[in-house]
Amino acid sequence: MKIKTRFSPSPTGELHIGSVRTALYSWLFARNMGGRFVLRIEDTNRERSTQRAIEAIIEGMNWLNLDWDEGPYFQTKRFSRYNAVIDKMLVNNTAYKCYCSKDRLEKLREAQMARGDKPRYDGHCRDSQDYHATNEPCVVRFHNPDNGFVIFNDLIRGPIEFSNRELDDLIIRRTDGSPTYNFCVVVDDFDMQITHVIRGDDHINNTPRQINILKTLGGPVPHYAHVSMILDTNGKKLSKRQGAVGVIQYRDDGFLPEALINYLVRLGWSHGDQEIFSIDEMKRQFSLNALNKSASIFNAEKLLWLNNHYISHLPADYVATHLVKHIEQEGINICTGPHLSEIVKLLGKRCKTLKEMAASCRYFYEDFSEFDVDAAKKYLSPVAVKTLEVVRAKLAALTEWTPKSVYAVIDQTAKELHVSMGKVGMPLRVALTGNCQSPAIDVTVHAIGQSRSIMRINLALDFIAQQE
Ligand code: GLU
Repeated sequence: MKIKTRFSPSPTGELHIGSVRTALYSWLFARNMGGRFVLRIEDTNRERSTQRAIEAIIEGMNWLNLDWDEGPYFQTKRFSRYNAVIDKMLVNNTAYKCYCSKDRLEKLREAQMARGDKPRYDGHCRDSQDYHATNEPCVVRFHNPDNGFVIFNDLIRGPIEFSNRELDDLIIRRTDGSPTYNFCVVVDDFDMQITHVIRGDDHINNTPRQINILKTLGGPVPHYAHVSMILDTNGKKLSKRQGAVGVIQYRDDGFLPEALINYLVRLGWSHGDQEIFSIDEMKRQFSLNALNKSASIFNAEKLLWLNNHYISHLPADYVATHLVKHIEQEGINICTGPHLSEIVKLLGKRCKTLKEMAASCRYFYEDFSEFDVDAAKKYLSPVAVKTLEVVRAKLAALTEWTPKSVYAVIDQTAKELHVSMGKVGMPLRVALTGNCQSPAIDVTVHAIGQSRSIMRINLALDFIAQQE
């Protein structure tokens, strides 16, 4: 049988990175097995579902390159199908209409609680012969088996067992005629021929109910794999309070999709000691039985480390395509300076995020009128005048502008003035970049360009003159 998995988020907020991780596992499993991956939007809760959240799901999946073979399906577009199934169940008595009033249900609940029992519907309307007008409001309930057990072999956790006595007759259609969430999931998994349901462990309690309904419909029961939670460093469920949880926020904060994917795959899955995985490697090596049973702790430092790795190891041209957005956000006009892939090569090792890179590359494109106060105090002093004048003359005389020729100029200047390379490099760096931090001085000067470098040395010399 062809393997088929699905990612079925409810569009009620941001696309949470915990959901993305289960999506990634479903996607990798399908890709690993040569199967298919379905995207299904579970928007039955009309009050909480929003168009913006649907867009965030699609945007996030596209950004991460998690492509789907079918869908996106929308549950709200399938109501007639769900209702047709419910009508059939009413005919064959696997579901029944329930007219119990709120009041009766409340009293039942109170009595059960007073006895110390778990509150559950008592099946009052199952076999009721009471007359009801056709327009009398009612819900439809699934006739759950009274006895026996639901046992399934979770692919991550092993066998899980529920007693049918613990499960009551679930409402599958509300008074307003809309089908309920747990029911829609079952019909969808059945119709879409899902073979493996990979989802968060917060759905474990839904599983026996879904299995019972599925069996009633005559559907094959899929395999289930319930993925453990992601916790923050305090052991609490990862929430906004601890930082970003929405995947789009990670993009906007300057992460590469490769870094986030690599981070998430390792957060709960391992393959020996390997930390860095290409997408192809993940697809080849992924297996559900190597998933952790226990919860995983989110480690922001590790994600930054991976991001720095990918920024500095992926082809600079590619990284530059992701950098563009952040450069625009900084309002930098790149027409007047080096190509962005140059910036990636120059700053890649030094930056943990693309946002940081965009914020620290301005001097390659824009002139500035102020120097960092401490840097200027230390390096733009009268003793630097001679050095800057010599280096300026030599740079101006260059007919070939390469990092190598720039390096030679700095070297010759140091030798001529009997000082170390650093004594030339630092004033030059402050003159050209405004502060003490930049990549190696030869490549920095080269990227800034010949005429711009000369002009900035002039400005630095003016600045020194004004300090005297
Ligand atoms: N829509 C559910 C959620 O977003 C997922 C349900 C499922 O995977 O079965 O939590």
